[in-house]
Amino acid sequence: MSDFLDGQTIVIMGVANKRSIAWGCTRAIMNQGAKVVLTYQNDRIKKSLKRFVPEDLDLLECDVSEDENIEKAFAEIGDRYGKIDGVIHAIAYADKDTLTSGLVNTTKDGYDLAQNISAYSLIAVARYAQPVLNNPASILTLTYFGSTRAIPNYNMMGVAKAALEANVRYLASDLGATGIRVNAISAGAVKTLAVTGIKNHGELLKESESRTVDQKSVTTDEIGNVAAFFMSDLSTGMTGDVVYVDKGVHLI
Ligand code: NAD
Repeated sequence: MSDFLDGQTIVIMGVANKRSIAWGCTRAIMNQGAKVVLTYQNDRIKKSLKRFVPEDLDLLECDVSEDENIEKAFAEIGDRYGKIDGVIHAIAYADKDTLTSGLVNTTKDGYDLAQNISAYSLIAVARYAQPVLNNPASILTLTYFGSTRAIPNYNMMGVAKAALEANVRYLASDLGATGIRVNAISAGAVKTLAVTGIKNHGELLKESESRTVDQKSVTTDEIGNVAAFFMSDLSTGMTGDVVYVDKGVHLI
């Protein structure tokens, strides 16, 4: 493959460790020639990144729970790199009680936290990234099938993903005139830190693998390759879309 992201600068939010979907995206996007800047949640994650991320990869702190942090991070990105070409948002969180106790038992605080980190943060990222994004540019987020189906034990995260997908459509409409497109990849289940918070996640992963077209789960590299396409000008005709990268799980 040629280096179709040569000369581009892409910000990737949400690498926690080598298993992270965002790390699959980072590798694929670097393979296509882009410069990547990673944002991380806190010092604990930074320590984890230092163990495997190449030294020449730039890191910047951004806990998305507060708008000021997002505003500051993108202002810093603008100062350091000038205009950028894309942002990948691979961030979600719900506290353990909220994730495990069934939607009917979700508290207001648990609901607010999950929506804030997993769905609202995309809006804030789009707002503060906008001034530093080129025309054309691309924003991509990660969602899951539990947004449209009641997947056992996905609970509140399914509600947050439904909101996230609606955010994608409205942001795409808001930002279209400035050449910024907004899309989501609906990824198949892969074993990451985030998935281990889901009750009986072993069952979910097994069931998901058995429903792929070839009984082999999608990999973070395969998800990353589609993310690279979304970051590139090959995808300028697509915005407001949710594209499945799950080896056919959603078909069956
Ligand atoms: P992961 O645990 O590797 O990544 C989740 C990331 O969210 C971590 O880097 C974490 O630091 C970050 N995060 C959480 N709260 C944050 C905050 N307040 N500020 C900044 N960052 C914060 O897991 P993953 O599975 O790679 O998750 C990435 C995305 O992919 C999530 O949106 C997840 O819902 C989605 N997704 C995952 C799967 C799957 O099966 N693993 C399937 C479909 C979609």
